[in-house]
Amino acid sequence: MSDSSISKLFEKTRKERLEIVANFANLSSDEIKILQSDNGGISFDKADKMVENAIGTFSLPLGIATNFKINGKDYIVPMVIEEPSVIAAASKGAKVARIKGGFEVSALESYSIGQIQVLDVDIPTAIKAIENSKNKILDLANSKSNTLSKMGKGAKEISCKEIDTPSGKMLIVELLIDVGDAMGANVTNTMCEAVSPLIEKISGGRALLRILSNYSTRRIAKAKAVFEKEAVGGDEVVDNIILAFEFADNDVYRAVTHNKGIMNGTIAVANAVGQDSRAIEAAANAYAAESGRYRSLSRWSKDDEGNLVGTLEIPLSVGIVGGIANVHPVAKVCTKVLGVKTAQELACVMTATGLAQNYSAIRALATEGIQKGHMRLHARNLAAAAGATTEQIDVIVQKMIEEKKISLDRAKELLEQI
Ligand code: NAD
Repeated sequence: MSDSSISKLFEKTRKERLEIVANFANLSSDEIKILQSDNGGISFDKADKMVENAIGTFSLPLGIATNFKINGKDYIVPMVIEEPSVIAAASKGAKVARIKGGFEVSALESYSIGQIQVLDVDIPTAIKAIENSKNKILDLANSKSNTLSKMGKGAKEISCKEIDTPSGKMLIVELLIDVGDAMGANVTNTMCEAVSPLIEKISGGRALLRILSNYSTRRIAKAKAVFEKEAVGGDEVVDNIILAFEFADNDVYRAVTHNKGIMNGTIAVANAVGQDSRAIEAAANAYAAESGRYRSLSRWSKDDEGNLVGTLEIPLSVGIVGGIANVHPVAKVCTKVLGVKTAQELACVMTATGLAQNYSAIRALATEGIQKGHMRLHARNLAAAAGATTEQIDVIVQKMIEEKKISLDRAKELLEQI
């Protein structure tokens, strides 16, 4: 099965959903068991090896977004997120994008940037000396990763820049490293630390910080999708969505929320496949302010036929090897479900999911408002929190929606009345 337009997945039982996912991704019975485990996939022992002072583990819901077609290939997208509506919104956005062929996405090769802060130097002389010893520095950096060297990847370029600070000018030396299919944080840090003594010797200065930059501007992914005018809701809705985008693009208070909606999609996929979500968000926020003003990460316009056109461009430092991607059993199975074979392909899916999410959020905001869909799910959570059983939840939710009174207290009152 390779068609991701699975209808009414939400109406199916967990067992049926798992069967669909297993068929789609050709999962083994062991992999299905991992998805079924109620401890979220990691034992305490594993957790204890991952972080310091561990006392337990913490699970979040894992769901599947459907309908994704990206660069002509179908994907079902695992998403780990606590917020209701997000997975439904991503699936809805992908369904509309699919009408016009889905998402076209490209991602740059995986070049990470490592920074070395050099102090107490004559900067122009130091820059010349470093440039003259470029190959020696690159060779030393590459001696730290046989894996990358064997793949023809690794440190490729060195550049120098001067920054002005209250403590005076500083020289920043940057290593550009092709990290292949890894996020590459550790190998970047290792290489920066390894070349620092040599850089000190060549420049006559003192190296202080030696660390990866999370502002991964050499790992940009770009997604585009056309959302058919009729499916969007007609000319007026298309125009209102564009007006909603312009609000976000020109007001930081709106832009942050708008971009948070994009992150709802992108980060939920990141979580499912074991990525460093802090790195992604920090980079995305910096990129939103790239022009000197914090703006919308996505852009919305219409084509000659009046269809809505969305694009999203974000830096994405992600990997299918390294970090916890190969350690966390659920993350491993989710990567298989996604079927991505390279870090760039993963970046493409995460960007498409962000764009799908953004479409659904601004469409809802520009039409009926966000609360209609959100509140039903919120009401379900409240009814469950009040202690209602599955059958009681449906009754309580319906009643609270009819009354337009959705609160934990009301859920408790209604439960008592049942
Ligand atoms: P990692 O240290 O596990 O390294 C991945 C390694 O896999 C590579 O160095 C390489 O030797 C090997 N490899 C095998 N096949 C490969 C392939 N096809 N392409 C590339 N490498 C291949 O993981 P990482 O990606 O270096 O680091 C990710 C982790 O580092 C994350 O958990 C992140 O949270 C953490 N981290 C982040 C920061 C930061 O963001 N500032 C800093 C330090 C650590």
